[in-house]
Amino acid sequence: PLRIGVLAVQGDVREHVHVLSSLGAEATGVRRPRELDEVDAIVIPGGESTTMDKLVRAFELYDPLRKRIADGMPAYGSCAGMIMLADRIADARPDQQTLGGLDMTVRRNAFGRQVDSFEEDLHMPEVVGADGDPVRAVFIRAPWVEQVGEGVQVLATVESGPAAGHIVAVRQGNLLATSFHPEVTGDHRVHDYFVQMVRAARA
Ligand code: GLN
Repeated sequence: PLRIGVLAVQGDVREHVHVLSSLGAEATGVRRPRELDEVDAIVIPGGESTTMDKLVRAFELYDPLRKRIADGMPAYGSCAGMIMLADRIADARPDQQTLGGLDMTVRRNAFGRQVDSFEEDLHMPEVVGADGDPVRAVFIRAPWVEQVGEGVQVLATVESGPAAGHIVAVRQGNLLATSFHPEVTGDHRVHDYFVQMVRAARA
């Protein structure tokens, strides 16, 4: 079976492990470099990206993760995990680093305080197929993607309201990122898409 790790230093680890297991993957938390060596792919969950950044370095996972990502290991980042996979953060705090890998600029807490958390239907034909139902996306103090490089494929944009047009899901090679939290809705299609990416990368 595919072995998919969930970065387990902070954030909603358990929900991702549960979804990945239900899709037939061998899913485990990763908080040590040795555990990272044993997985085919990694999910970086939602949480708080400044804390996650500090803990990743404290657990001595920063360099090994960067190396595995550079070597082509598939990675999926949701929300704070998306921020961790971004090459650039808009108006970044001077002490916040990311793992990087995705050629994009993200803005943290982009949707503003009034609309802290919200849900919206997104069309994601690449992920769910041309005839697939929209994905119900749950955003929790989410980032959006402000700028992408040429190699980045946009998988979803907000379709209505004041944030319309903003990018909220992307893929570049073996890296996938969403502003929202598909692990909380019971709809496993985004994870299933990632599992297919992992399978293809291992083949
Ligand atoms: N606002 C958080 C951050 O900037 C992300 C929130 C989340 O992951 N749900 O890190």
